[in-house]
Amino acid sequence: MTRASILGSKIFRQQAFIAGRWTDSGDGSTFDVSDPADGSVIARVTNCTTEDVQRALDQASVAWDGWKDRTGKERAAILRRWFDLMIENRDHLAGLISLEQGKPLREAADEVTYGTAYIEWFAEEAKRVEGHILPGHQRDKRIMVIRQPIGVVAAITPWNFPIAMITRKCAPALAAGCPVVVKPASQTPLCALALAELGRLAGLPDGVLSVLPSNRSAAIGKHLTESRIVRKLSFTGSTQTGRILLQQSASTIKKASMELGGNAPVIIFDDADIDKAVDGALAAKFRNAGQTCVCANRIYVQSSIYDEFAARFALAVERLTVGASLQGDFDLGPLIDEKALGKVRELVADATDKGAVVLAGGKVHDLGGTFYKPTVLSGVTERMAIATEEVFGPVASLLRFNTEAEVIARANDTEFGLASYIFSQNIDRVFRVAEKIEAGMVGINTGLISTEIAPFGGVKESGLGREGSRFGIEDYLEMKYLCLSVEAE
Ligand code: NAP
Repeated sequence: MTRASILGSKIFRQQAFIAGRWTDSGDGSTFDVSDPADGSVIARVTNCTTEDVQRALDQASVAWDGWKDRTGKERAAILRRWFDLMIENRDHLAGLISLEQGKPLREAADEVTYGTAYIEWFAEEAKRVEGHILPGHQRDKRIMVIRQPIGVVAAITPWNFPIAMITRKCAPALAAGCPVVVKPASQTPLCALALAELGRLAGLPDGVLSVLPSNRSAAIGKHLTESRIVRKLSFTGSTQTGRILLQQSASTIKKASMELGGNAPVIIFDDADIDKAVDGALAAKFRNAGQTCVCANRIYVQSSIYDEFAARFALAVERLTVGASLQGDFDLGPLIDEKALGKVRELVADATDKGAVVLAGGKVHDLGGTFYKPTVLSGVTERMAIATEEVFGPVASLLRFNTEAEVIARANDTEFGLASYIFSQNIDRVFRVAEKIEAGMVGINTGLISTEIAPFGGVKESGLGREGSRFGIEDYLEMKYLCLSVEAE
């Protein structure tokens, strides 16, 4: 796949998609999107204003009536067509992900599979939004609970999974009967616009899905959160931004879902299968060059197997290949930008200054740019910033522990609670630790846990709500109860 073929495809769009039309912004401005592999500009995209957002919201509000009145089966048919079109365009979508986000083409294709699965899943769930009949509280009373779409949804998404983070929100919202206005990350708007084009071709009615690229994120976030048209905000991104959006949403008592940052512990006990633990830690750490919210941030290894695990893990990490996504089949691409690279360098410097030892990598890659060598640090402790902050880069930190109680306490000693991983062959221990760990998700003897079938989300400052699974549609529905008096004969 070449850059020319990706940019020449019919799903490559640079304008905003508002109310069923491709359009420039009200003030005619644009911003550049660049390839993280070499910094070159790949697109000049419409830079939406708050007035454009208001236009999209007004149209979404109009479209809501027709969309919520369709049957679940009718909405399911359109979502299913959208899914089929994404699969037909899989190669171009994967190419766009690689080009604007930097992950290797192989991983980008996996993201298309993962992201489209949410559309397929919620197309099926659209037909299963059921109510309940409850026993009446008095002899003449009948009580019914119905579930209805909440209304217009605003979705704000990050750059690290430019397709999946959008489908995880749009699929349940649209299935439930809610129109969606999406503000994608300004570093990766091209995938979002491609999804809008495929949605248009699938038959989503005008105004039901709008995509507004913009680098005026603070102003647009404020407009969306303070709008009374928006009944629900679904955000994925940093805890810092999530906090701002939640505060702003208080002004309209808006329902909000928050998929925020993590600081995932991986706990490897001395009764683990070490081969599995090495593979699992590798997968949990280095996917997307370490730029996922569920990435292993702290790898706790029990003392008696620490040296053996560290040696085998470092060897496996040394073998990982690094390169520009469209120039070969590599394991890791570049980091998203200079700021991300700067943070990784600072965290590694802080750790080594405080006594951590580099077992692999530890520096910028010879390729230059924002490429960083896959790295293993040994002897990390919680005094180092790398153990308390989300790294978002290809650096694995190994920490030593002695007892089960100690490692649970250390793993939970963080404001985050998204993903966690345990490696052990002892079933009693697995249950004890999984139940005590403060996280929304626990991988047991595996480093890969994301699937549309399971409820994805965090506890503590990692977020509110769940995406995916049969529970994922709940966030887009309101309950209403009907109390009926039935006269006795
Ligand atoms: P971010 O800086 O919070 O940005 C996320 C989105 O919010 C982008 O669209 C961004 O727009 C927008 N934004 C930034 N500041 C805003 C503001 N003041 N008001 C409204 N919108 C604003 O996060 P990121 O660096 O892109 O993404 C990485 C973070 O996302 C990590 O912490 C990661 O853990 C988290 N994440 C969580 C999950 C999960 O499911 N829990 C999944 C993926 C990622 P611009 O791009 O225009 O700045």
